[in-house]
Amino acid sequence: MLFDDPEETETIASVMVPVAVPGPYTYRVPPGVHVQPGMIVRVPLGPREVLGAVWDGEPDAAINPKKLKAISHVYEGARPLDTELRKFVEWVANWTLAAPGMVLRMVLRSEEALEEEPPVPGVRLIAGAEPDRMTSARQKVLATLADGRAWTRSGLSHAAGVSVSVIDGLLQQEVLETVDLPAAPPPPLPDIDFSPPVLTPAQQAAAEGLVESFSKGAAVSLIDGVTGSGKTEVYFEAIAEALRRGKQTLVLLPEIALTEQFLRRFEKRFGVYPAEWHSEITPKARARTWRGVADGSVRVVIGARSALFLPFEDLGLIIVDEEHDGAFKQDDRVPYSARDMAVVRGHLSKFPVILASATPSVESRVNADLGRYNRFVLPERASGAAMPDLKAIDMRTEGPERGRWIAPELVGAIGEAFADGAQSLLFLNRRGYAPLTLCRTCGHRFQCPHCSSWLVEHRFQNKLVCHHCGHNESIPQNCPSCSAAGSLVPCGPGVERIAEEVETLFPQARTLILSSDLPGGPDRLRREMKIVEEGGADIVIGTQLVAKGHNFPKMRLVGVVDADLGLAHGDPRAAEKTFQLLAQVTGRAGRVTGGGKGFLQTYSPDQPVMKALLSQDRDAFYQAEIANRRAAGLPPFGRLAALVVSGPDKLMAEGFARAIARSAPPESTITVLGPAEAALAMVRGRYRYRLLLMAPRQTDLQGYLRHWLAHAPKPIKGLRVQIDIDPQQF
Ligand code: ADP
Ligand code: ZN
Repeated sequence: MLFDDPEETETIASVMVPVAVPGPYTYRVPPGVHVQPGMIVRVPLGPREVLGAVWDGEPDAAINPKKLKAISHVYEGARPLDTELRKFVEWVANWTLAAPGMVLRMVLRSEEALEEEPPVPGVRLIAGAEPDRMTSARQKVLATLADGRAWTRSGLSHAAGVSVSVIDGLLQQEVLETVDLPAAPPPPLPDIDFSPPVLTPAQQAAAEGLVESFSKGAAVSLIDGVTGSGKTEVYFEAIAEALRRGKQTLVLLPEIALTEQFLRRFEKRFGVYPAEWHSEITPKARARTWRGVADGSVRVVIGARSALFLPFEDLGLIIVDEEHDGAFKQDDRVPYSARDMAVVRGHLSKFPVILASATPSVESRVNADLGRYNRFVLPERASGAAMPDLKAIDMRTEGPERGRWIAPELVGAIGEAFADGAQSLLFLNRRGYAPLTLCRTCGHRFQCPHCSSWLVEHRFQNKLVCHHCGHNESIPQNCPSCSAAGSLVPCGPGVERIAEEVETLFPQARTLILSSDLPGGPDRLRREMKIVEEGGADIVIGTQLVAKGHNFPKMRLVGVVDADLGLAHGDPRAAEKTFQLLAQVTGRAGRVTGGGKGFLQTYSPDQPVMKALLSQDRDAFYQAEIANRRAAGLPPFGRLAALVVSGPDKLMAEGFARAIARSAPPESTITVLGPAEAALAMVRGRYRYRLLLMAPRQTDLQGYLRHWLAHAPKPIKGLRVQIDIDPQQF
């Protein structure tokens, strides 16, 4: 807030700065400058200057103004962050117990965006002017310019098919004049009537329900539709409604690799591409999107979780696709769940939020069952194709010979599909060639020096790699422990090893590995996704990347190499995650053509998750899982928070974790468990201990934590305490 001191005629203001302090700082406002909450400014902070935003609340008038530092720059051209966004920042900070400045940092992601891009020089025709001598090249230029539009010189030279010197000649003769062109013309608007779909009755009912939800303020809707049921088509109708109402839309996807396909589908429906926001766009594109979102010229944004903090001019709809996906919550400085915070943003600004999934999170399913969310069920595939037939292969009795990973029955099925010209997918959620390398002579195992994890062999790179910190080393000739030569053996399969087996079995087939870590980066991945989509590969071997949302029309068969993999962890969410992953990945089979088949290679075909999958009984799975959670007081029936204490010294980290645990204020409804070694006991050279808080649903867990940590021993000597509200792992 602005504060005028009548005597000093000096004003001061609260400014939120992007650092981990509890609240805004007070700054002097230079004479003649006027600020209001939301304005983006540059201020001195210690030895540097940082971006900040003028914030709400009275500045601290008790500080001698002479001691205050002054705001050094006000970004007059940038739209101030509106009240709703400022409230959202505060809300996220309160919820996650992060400093509000750290949340604000996620809003101020593009410094370039704060200044207008300078105009670019262009040319246009001077009305009535004519060249002294007409040539055919000059004629082409004049014809191109006849409509009065301005062009850049290079653009015009290209469009008219003449060299730039022709244009320069006309400029010299004052037939053309120079003008300023905007650096980025506003993006074309989506056209609601470009290509409306013909919806199936179930889709139509869902679409109508979503459109209705716009008149109900902050309604949350769950589109619970089997894989291939056309959830995207349905929520496109909600986007059309937002466009009709003049509101902006944000679509969140869990995985950048899904963007490409989404862009093309959006274009097919609305005639233009939406704006993109994720870590792989260029700084310039990022700045343009940020500005376009703020000035309202961008109507629809498709983005990663960080797009939630864009300064929309008038946001009126958020869609979270694949809402169950764990990637919406990440271990960053502010660990927030983008799905949950999307619901909060809709709630604060009173607009609808849509969650879509073929395998909703237990949380969302319960919210729907309790009537907190609308639920729209799409029980069938849009194409009319049947859901894939699923079959377990009991690896205890039907497995392949030693050193092979694909069971004979699955090999046979792949062979059949290949003979028919259909695609197969082999799914294994393990990057690299082998998850563990050991010495046959002495038993030495290769472990990461910085993390408590094995090094994974990556054969293409000829390296052993840590998947947690990126540490890598060349594969040695001799065992580093006993010096035996040629004694190192890879244990177990990764996707590269499965690909090797496939190539031996089907040398004529076009084999492709889809994994996020292969050389060539995201560009290669995008190209390869497209190849698969267009049928340019016969057998695809993929990690969890392929399980998410993709539409591969020619995919008929899906084989899960190790269906038990996710269940091996002791994580109580393992059942839910495994169910989701396997339902999603097998859901890639036969989406358009039908006749899809899925095989689950498992050592425990009688495991409840496996049985639920095989019988295609989604509801039975959810009912059982919900009952378990309820009985155990686990989310969404109870609340959880985790405290992770870490430090470079094991004993110190453990001792400190114990000291923190001892300082927990007694509270009858809250249970504090631990400390125990975290699931990954060491990462990047830091030892980690974890405390888990459990409480009934109505508990103010954040309030309790705030009080506790205010009185707990303070971390010293490289120790750190991280708070994780609603941790993914229980
Ligand atoms: P989901 O996201 O539910 O898995 P998609 O939205 O990707 O499903 O749709 C699956 C496929 O079905 C896509 O190829 C889509 O174009 C097609 N499709 C969806 N709805 C219809 C419809 N009403 N008519 C024709 N094709 C449809
Ligand atoms: Zn490591």
